[in-house]
Amino acid sequence: MNIEDLRSVCASVLSDISLKSLTTFKIGGLAKFVVYPQNFTEYKALLHMCKEKCVEYYILGAGSNILADDGGFDGVIICTKKLNNISKNSPCRVRASCGVMLANLVRFCADNGLTGLEWAINIPGTVGGAVVMNAGAFGGEMAKIVESVTILNNGVPQVLENSKLFFNYRHSVFTNKKNYAIMEVVFKLKKEAKEQIALNTRQFICKRTLTQNVGYPSAGSVFRRENDLIPAKLIEECGLKGERVGDAMVSPVHSGYIVNLGKATCGQVLALIEKVKSRVHEKFNATMQCEIIHLKGKNCEKF
Ligand SMILES: Cc1cc2nc3c(=O)[nH]c(=O)nc-3n(C[C@H](O)[C@H](O)[C@H](O)COP(=O)(O)OP(=O)(O)OC[C@H]3O[C@@H](n4cnc5c(N)ncnc54)[C@H](O)[C@@H]3O)c2cc1C
Repeated sequence: MNIEDLRSVCASVLSDISLKSLTTFKIGGLAKFVVYPQNFTEYKALLHMCKEKCVEYYILGAGSNILADDGGFDGVIICTKKLNNISKNSPCRVRASCGVMLANLVRFCADNGLTGLEWAINIPGTVGGAVVMNAGAFGGEMAKIVESVTILNNGVPQVLENSKLFFNYRHSVFTNKKNYAIMEVVFKLKKEAKEQIALNTRQFICKRTLTQNVGYPSAGSVFRRENDLIPAKLIEECGLKGERVGDAMVSPVHSGYIVNLGKATCGQVLALIEKVKSRVHEKFNATMQCEIIHLKGKNCEKF
């Protein structure tokens, strides 16, 4: 596939773009092609073309849960940021396209007197990425407010109701189904006074500023919380705050985060992850799993 093929179905196509500019970690090599579909016709056509020509593709939201490989990505990154429509569907329902930023969705709901999403105000992701990851904070999570998701399943539009999304901690049906491309999400919320929603939102902003203001690029929490296992606590008790490999450092502010001090590479982050995992295992006999996703060619799997 060449750039002209892509331009025949999508107006916005770039080549040889650094994944540093597409991810909040600011890490990664070059992506061969990056495309920004502006509507679902382009989105569908791009997915179809990649499949038909057997070209590897990856759907990227805001890249806020991604550690991109130093070797880059030798395929097509389909960036959803321009798929960003929001509308009110019924008195308590909001429909959002996959590329809507969560902060914009929170503001839209607040302006319409709808509560249930305020906890998401500072999560730097898109609606699509948040549904895939079942993003959550302070007791809120996508699982509790998503009513249905419209997907393209091998090019065919399909609506999946909440019960078919198999939400779990930072997990959904999309974690394993790479052929599902999210188009739109319908949220079911509750009516509330706008003053109360503004107050809730301010409180969540304050809580986060106090505990998670790490000051450097990151991909949020690196490890999964599982059952009684609280990674940040174990890492801190191992004395690993501030531990470094090159420019990758365990944040001294929030030990669940690894930050990029400036020139961190994917290799350095991976080495630091291994170091942290093995020290925690030695001390507590606990095995930590990664929450962030390693984006690399051929095989974009979780760790
Ligand atoms: C500072 C910071 C704070 C964070 N705080 C939190 C937090 O409090 N809670 C939390 O849960 N997470 C948090 N995160 C992690 C991250 O923001 C969330 O997981 C977010 O929901 C990811 O959204 P995204 O658009 O960036 O997805 P991406 O990182 O771009 O992608 C994540 C996954 O979703 C897939 N995907 C994205 N869009 C689509 C689509 N349209 N169709 C199919 N697949 C798609 C991608 O292929 C990938 O597998 C934080 C991250 C940072 C950097």
